[in-house]
Amino acid sequence: MKRSEGACLICGAPLVYFQEAREMECSLCHRKFPSNAQCEEGHFICDECHSKRGIEVVMEGCRKTPSKNPIAILQSLMEDPFVYMHGPEHHVMVGAALLAAYRNAGGELDLEQALAEMAQRGQQVPGGACGFWGCCGAAVSTGIFVSIVTGSSPLSGKSWGLCNEMTSRALASLAAVGGPRCCKRNSFLATIEAVKFAREKLGVSMELPEKIQCAFFPENQQCLRKKCPFNPLHQG
Ligand SMILES: [Zn+2]
Ligand SMILES: [Zn+2]
Repeated sequence: MKRSEGACLICGAPLVYFQEAREMECSLCHRKFPSNAQCEEGHFICDECHSKRGIEVVMEGCRKTPSKNPIAILQSLMEDPFVYMHGPEHHVMVGAALLAAYRNAGGELDLEQALAEMAQRGQQVPGGACGFWGCCGAAVSTGIFVSIVTGSSPLSGKSWGLCNEMTSRALASLAAVGGPRCCKRNSFLATIEAVKFAREKLGVSMELPEKIQCAFFPENQQCLRKKCPFNPLHQG
């Protein structure tokens, strides 16, 4: 399979977004859903069809990795052809990479159970939540990570505060850079915040690379180029 360029998986045409959702039929499974996006040729692929294989790749990779570095885990998962440039698989992938690195860095966790829960919760966050809800799914994924490792629920006290604080810190970090969305940039930024947070609040020290350089920007038509902290053109 050829890697897509953040565009239609059927024909490669760019996506167009609508302010108001319309009913559309998925070009793969033929079920109908309300959606704000389709390609210029009229193709629509539902979130489940878009991310199914990618999420299997994420689960398998996170079960096996011995790494304590969630960015390194993400970068290796992102190389897989079923993990697309942009897409809701990132809403599962960020938290899954964090769960694996957290366990490998000494955090107490039943990884198999935690990953299953991550996949279940993360898949409920739709594509486009960043621009339509004001709440990027990669950031939500860090909140789900903290919720799972602390065992939080809506009735919790301290852990309720922790998981909401996690999401808010990740959102602040990526809001400071601004849009348009990039699932790679936002995954890296949210993950950096989660590593700092886990060190500070949960007493588990995961690792970060000395320098993070994005290898995916040629596939992103809306890359911020030198304004993105991970683009090779970025200085400082
Ligand atoms: Zn198309
Ligand atoms: Zn579908």
